[in-house]
Amino acid sequence: MQDAKIRLYVEQPLAPGQAVALSRDQAHYLFTVMRLGAGAPVLLFNGRDGEWRAGVTVAGRQGGMLTCGAQTRAVQTPPDLWLLFAPIRKARTDFIVEKAVEMGVARVVPVQTAHTNADRIRQDRLQAHAVEAAEQCGATFVPEVAELVALDRLLADWPSERRILWADESLVGARDALQGAGRGGPWAILVGPEGGFSEKERARLRAMPQVLPVSLGPRILRADTAAVAALTLWQSVLGDWT
Ligand code: SAH
Repeated sequence: MQDAKIRLYVEQPLAPGQAVALSRDQAHYLFTVMRLGAGAPVLLFNGRDGEWRAGVTVAGRQGGMLTCGAQTRAVQTPPDLWLLFAPIRKARTDFIVEKAVEMGVARVVPVQTAHTNADRIRQDRLQAHAVEAAEQCGATFVPEVAELVALDRLLADWPSERRILWADESLVGARDALQGAGRGGPWAILVGPEGGFSEKERARLRAMPQVLPVSLGPRILRADTAAVAALTLWQSVLGDWT
């Protein structure tokens, strides 16, 4: 049997023999862009039911139909880790969302801090970007991208059990504090904007018992690099890499 090269995210439930109707955009992608025809294999996932092998049963211009065969992989949910980051310029924000999906997070939360330049985001576009990243990296789960929220408001009703790894640029060069943190439980990572955190924000974060300020080494990283570095650090010490 031909190998399925294309992975497609769909919303419908997936089960043996399940027919999956395609949207116009999905049909355009599969049949016009990728030139698949009837019988071609595709891998499907929906974030809940794992990954399934499916075959094209109807290939039309406006739509089409796939039929599920066997499951190829069970769903693999990431650790209960959120990435909080201050949106920066468009391409770098896209990069952060893409890397968060690849590195494995449960939720992506764009936050507005005192020194954040962006006052709105295109949530729908960022969510679509997360779907695309999951399709490409073999993930069976797509994190939700939240609407932009003010850091103040988010911290005001922050759950007491969710710890925060705070990438604190003032600790540049300090020793990493994560080793003693202990595994398990919900977490979030917080990375600031290019302008860093304000004094008021730092005071507030320092006062929260859930917050663990962490250094990301002896150099100041750009916000997008810092997001990937913090995710790497967390995943390798507390996450699903080991
Ligand atoms: N303008 C700030 C740097 C901001 S860097 C300054 O000069 O101090 C953007 C974000 O990346 C920071 O808010 C922080 O969350 C993270 N970051 C960058 N380098 C870091 C480091 N060495 N340790 C911890 N966090 C870092």
